[in-house]
Amino acid sequence: MKVKSHYPLFINGEYVDSKNGERFDVVNPATEEVIATAAKAAKEDVDKAVQAARTAFESGKWPKMTAAKRARILNKIASIMRERFDDLVNAEVLNSGKTVDAAKGQINQAIEDFEFYAAAAITLQGDVNQVPNGFFNYTVKEPVGVCGQIIPWNYPLMMAAWKVAPALAAGCTVVLKPASYTPITAYMLAEICLEAGVPNGVVNVITGSGSEIGPYMTQHPGIDKVAFTGETETGKDIMKRASDTLKRVTLELGGKSPNIVFDDCDLEEAVNGSLFGIFYNTGQSCEARSRLFVHESIYDEFMEMFLEKASRVRVGDPFAKGVHMGAVISKSHQDVIDGYVKLAVEEGGEILYGGKVPEGGEFRKGYWYMPTIIGNVTNDMRVAQEEIFGPVVVVMKFSEEEEVIRQANDTIFGLGSCIWTKDHGRAHRVSSRIRAGIVMVNCPISAFPGTPFGGYKQSGFGRELALETLNLYMETKSVVSYV
Ligand code: NAD
Repeated sequence: MKVKSHYPLFINGEYVDSKNGERFDVVNPATEEVIATAAKAAKEDVDKAVQAARTAFESGKWPKMTAAKRARILNKIASIMRERFDDLVNAEVLNSGKTVDAAKGQINQAIEDFEFYAAAAITLQGDVNQVPNGFFNYTVKEPVGVCGQIIPWNYPLMMAAWKVAPALAAGCTVVLKPASYTPITAYMLAEICLEAGVPNGVVNVITGSGSEIGPYMTQHPGIDKVAFTGETETGKDIMKRASDTLKRVTLELGGKSPNIVFDDCDLEEAVNGSLFGIFYNTGQSCEARSRLFVHESIYDEFMEMFLEKASRVRVGDPFAKGVHMGAVISKSHQDVIDGYVKLAVEEGGEILYGGKVPEGGEFRKGYWYMPTIIGNVTNDMRVAQEEIFGPVVVVMKFSEEEEVIRQANDTIFGLGSCIWTKDHGRAHRVSSRIRAGIVMVNCPISAFPGTPFGGYKQSGFGRELALETLNLYMETKSVVSYV
């Protein structure tokens, strides 16, 4: 399953070019080389994809298939992905600039998501409910219908799996729109679905300008639900537009997640976890722990270790062994990151490490940014409040538990959060007070197929992963009869 030179649209089980034949370049951000082109869909192409998904849904083959059979097909998708693992990893690294290790971890998870939802599909059941004598009432779960799924570029295949796997398990049909920067593995997944036995039209993939076809999808009367992952501002636009047709909406949006290091933590673990929390995936992570709060009594010791270890974070060719941070996604994103670093300095912040684009040698081509640590920051500064979505962490000192909880919550976002402490009482007490969908205690990772993932406040609503998400692709029908 090699990378093709051109990706037409994938509609009704086959590749078709867009109505007007327009294409755009797909670029490797680590080399600036064009690795493929992809079709730029027009509104008529969106109509076609929605029609294919609608027909596949109405024909009943997929939604009416027994859950056990759908589960077998989901497991087959997972096993083909495992067979093509190296090709998928290669395509993901080429297209996103992330390291091989990061791509492997994410694709492994994507595979496990299909396996998880295969198992979950066969647990679907309704209830018999209490009603007055003479009545009989049962509820059944039914698929929501045609789902428009719009995803970002930071975890291309994993985000596709987070969306497609539960939708398929529920019996929905899908029009998936990957980000224009990273369409390749979404197309690969669609091919794999077909090969595994998913009927034509159940999984369709379209590419094109997010600001043109995105709103069109969001307002499309043929789509029953929009599941979106991306920026908070885009999410707001989607919610407004989706209201015209009262679509079901789930939004997984941005974050500015706090990482709180208490004085009773295991220092080494907290340092390592804090490095991973911000520099994993080159900081292009929605739950990146980008606000680091360190207790004043251990601040100097922590920072000495943190800075020393940050200096050993290797940036470079994402295919090379020993590299920790690959490229950032684009020139414009590199500029956004650099703009925030300059703004931090204007606001009075002090660059403690990095703060620039690396130069020379392998960095002459591609889009890069140094791991960056900024001190002398207060929580009200823009760099502490706005999502940078790059390898930039701001560090703040605190003295009281109550004070750090207040600061951690003082943000419009509420996606991730992380606490480092050996005091279990404190861990649970602080977890209960943090207004965020995810709290990590003494570990820097949070996403497993069975754990609900999503945000409070302006980080969105609805959840990804876990059984909870399966329910969000279902409607509940209540059947009442008089007997
Ligand atoms: P983005 O909002 O720019 O784009 C996301 C997707 O939406 C793309 O496919 C894009 O083409 C499309 N799009 C753009 N404008 C649209 C519109 N008006 N209507 C409909 N669709 C539109 O986000 P991005 O830059 O691709 O991704 C980064 C963002 O994603 C960050 O804010 C990050 O925090 C967030 N994210 C969140 C999660 C989560 O689970 N909460 C996970 C990963 C990324």
